[in-house]
Amino acid sequence: MPRQHTRTELSLAHKYSGLMAHRPLKAVMLVLLITLVFGACSKSDEGNRLLIENVNVVDPVSGLLENQQVLIENGVITAVVGSEAAIASEAKIERFNAAEQYLVPGLWDMHVHFVYEPSLTDAMADLFLDYGITSVRDTGGDIEQLAQLRDRLPAPKPNIYLSGPLLDGRFVVYDGSDVTRPPLGTYAGNASTASETVAALQQAGADFIKIYELVQPATYDALVQAARSRSMPIASHVPLMMTADTAGPNADSMEHLRNLELACAANWQELLNTRQQRIRNFTEGLGYALRAGLHQDQRLPAIAAYDEERCNQVLDTLTNTIQVPTLRLNTGRHLRHFERPDWPDALAKLPEETQRTWQAQVALFSLAPAADPTFAQWSLFLMQRLLQRGVPIGAGTDAPIGLAIPGYSLHTELELLVVGGMTAQQALAAATVTPARFFNKEDSVGRIRPGMRADLLLLAKNPLDDIKHTRGIKAVMLGGDWVR
Ligand SMILES: [Zn+2]
Repeated sequence: MPRQHTRTELSLAHKYSGLMAHRPLKAVMLVLLITLVFGACSKSDEGNRLLIENVNVVDPVSGLLENQQVLIENGVITAVVGSEAAIASEAKIERFNAAEQYLVPGLWDMHVHFVYEPSLTDAMADLFLDYGITSVRDTGGDIEQLAQLRDRLPAPKPNIYLSGPLLDGRFVVYDGSDVTRPPLGTYAGNASTASETVAALQQAGADFIKIYELVQPATYDALVQAARSRSMPIASHVPLMMTADTAGPNADSMEHLRNLELACAANWQELLNTRQQRIRNFTEGLGYALRAGLHQDQRLPAIAAYDEERCNQVLDTLTNTIQVPTLRLNTGRHLRHFERPDWPDALAKLPEETQRTWQAQVALFSLAPAADPTFAQWSLFLMQRLLQRGVPIGAGTDAPIGLAIPGYSLHTELELLVVGGMTAQQALAAATVTPARFFNKEDSVGRIRPGMRADLLLLAKNPLDDIKHTRGIKAVMLGGDWVR
């Protein structure tokens, strides 16, 4: 179907985008309206071709290419050429003039939890798209519930990749015993059942696995082997019985920079011995309490005993393991990201129940004494060490944990990655190319060049000048269709 109205439709969608996700009914009606207005026409499939003209392309690897034409066919980028180049069969091409705007690949959030906060679960996918997040990695939750959610959510929705539950030890940390620790985890079993466990997860829809902190070393190794044999990538926390340089090289990503402080300490062996002893002696109680106690007693002493030479040895084992530092989470209590001037507006887009709960939490935070800044500062310091030693870094938020507004918080994370020492282009790669590499999809998604899926954002300003410009989203394309 020929179409001439792309620009008008987009400005309509943009005008109303502020209303999205305010109230479920309004949001549904709005989606219907937009679908009616430009639903069928917005597709670049069915042989239709879309040409984005006069656009400045920002590729996370090759950088800025000014004044380009980007041809999209059947949801895939098929050409990126200068504005002067002729495109064959022009009569059949729909044109979209994006003069003076900037085209970047759709962003990923590498660390989210759809089923952490029930009042927010159904609203998250829309929020991700509103903020230009076209792919997410769910790093922990019940697999049946998540697989069903992924099927049930109406299109358009971001590409959702699932790990299923946190695979934990006999004492499960996220066991559902309290509202702050919903049942995201499960007992992974022992080494002899690992293969069965991973097979069942894949059967149920898991794309990768997530290993958690109280798993025993033999189980860890067996889970890794089982996932490898099924070509499933591995995300992991450092199991507390192990160190980052023994567990890390076998995983594809590690989360939160947590427990790197122990591995980087001059007295790491002594701290590890104590830790292992306490875990062995723990025969009764909550996994959450066991873990919290260990972190509380060992984190700051380990940071105080930082040994650069030892740390370099550790980091050099991680050059093939993506670190997802979740700086927003690690610095949140200290930097109070909820005090950002645009935070109230972003909060207002959440379901009312979530808003109430979060406002109460902010009030509690405000009354609490200032948080110890050591771990926040350590996280930012370690970022520089990772960059210097060539350890890959991915962008993830842990949304909605720690008051992370889905979608919005990824842009805060990008800013913090730059504070931590990345260039704006490196930060962009951390949210595009690097997550694609985790899934072995770097040939099909994450960049702007022929062969890549057309998940794209149009920005008003150049994000290479200032990473904050990723917040200025004019339009979002998912698989060749404008969806915002
Ligand atoms: Zn998490």
